[in-house]
Amino acid sequence: MKTYNFSAGPGVLPQEVITQIKQEFEKNEFNQMSIVEISHRSKQFQTIVADAEKKLRTLMQIPDEYAVVFLQGGGSTQFEMIPLNFATDHRHIALLDSGNFAAKAAEAANALGRKVTVLSSTKNQHYQSLPLEPQAFDSNAYDYLHIVTNNTIEGTTFHQSNLPKTNGRLVADMSSNILAEPYDVTDFDAIFAGGQKNLGPAGVTVAIIKKSWLAEQNLTGVGPMMRYQNHIDKQSMYNTSPVFAIYALNLVLDWVIQQGGVTEMYRRNLEKSQRLYTYLDQSDFYSAPVAQSERSLTNIVFTTGDLKRDEAIAKRATEAGLFNLNGHRSVGGFRASLYNAQSIAAVDALITFLKKAEQEA
Ligand SMILES: *Cc1c(COP(=O)(O)O)cnc(C)c1O
Repeated sequence: MKTYNFSAGPGVLPQEVITQIKQEFEKNEFNQMSIVEISHRSKQFQTIVADAEKKLRTLMQIPDEYAVVFLQGGGSTQFEMIPLNFATDHRHIALLDSGNFAAKAAEAANALGRKVTVLSSTKNQHYQSLPLEPQAFDSNAYDYLHIVTNNTIEGTTFHQSNLPKTNGRLVADMSSNILAEPYDVTDFDAIFAGGQKNLGPAGVTVAIIKKSWLAEQNLTGVGPMMRYQNHIDKQSMYNTSPVFAIYALNLVLDWVIQQGGVTEMYRRNLEKSQRLYTYLDQSDFYSAPVAQSERSLTNIVFTTGDLKRDEAIAKRATEAGLFNLNGHRSVGGFRASLYNAQSIAAVDALITFLKKAEQEA
């Protein structure tokens, strides 16, 4: 039986990359040693890091004024590193509370003694829409504005066309839609993304940091591992790098380039998500709660309106080879994650299954 994986993270990787990893581990490329058995300071690994950085710069058109680093600790550690490195002047952050991961970032900044002002929140609408930009927003009063471009759990997205406008600094958590749709890097002062949604396996986190902003910081009481500058100075080898995760990420970047880059990923993601949304919208049985202009291309959230029934259908989906369709435990319903490596065939198989479940209901 052909199976499909709709996991929200760690998510599906290109089959070609999985095959390549298997083959390279069998071959034991580096003098009978695999990549996970050699020093992170070896020439071989240094080349992999340099290649990965170069490819990411090309794919996202990252200018030289930005540093690119590969870190550990996931998106959640960035919830702490960002305020430690950048909420240093006013020690005050503005935030758009668009979902669970925005709320978690606020919580982490608070725990570090930073003041967080939620400019706008859609929490009482269960985050089914994006928070509006407040009219009178004095960006000078804050060190930066924190946003989450794609709300992985709730299925809403600030696309490039509906990014909030600010004269101040803008920080974006792109963990679940980096390389899935185009963004203009120069609109941001810092971007971060955990690897396991759209870049590779868990264990590596990408940070893209405007160098001039970092240079302005006068950090006190910040430990060495929490300082971006240390990781930048050592080309992501400040301490032992997550060698396997970076190695695999480098292969995924090759794959994205071979497929046609972000432009082609975006085209495919639009096609995949629109196919599913179109089906859901015409159905009387399922509904997708998010308004069209805010809909995520990578995490499609929907429900029959009866969470128990949703759960039963998701269970039947598993038996039919369609895995991990349950919504996040905090919201229930369905969530189909359609990251870059997800095929159009997976979406068609899902729609066929959903139709059948509708007919049988
Ligand atoms: C998954 C995710 C995170 C958390 O990532 P971890 O690697 O589990 O720390 C943060 N932000 C967003 C938008 C995510 O999707």
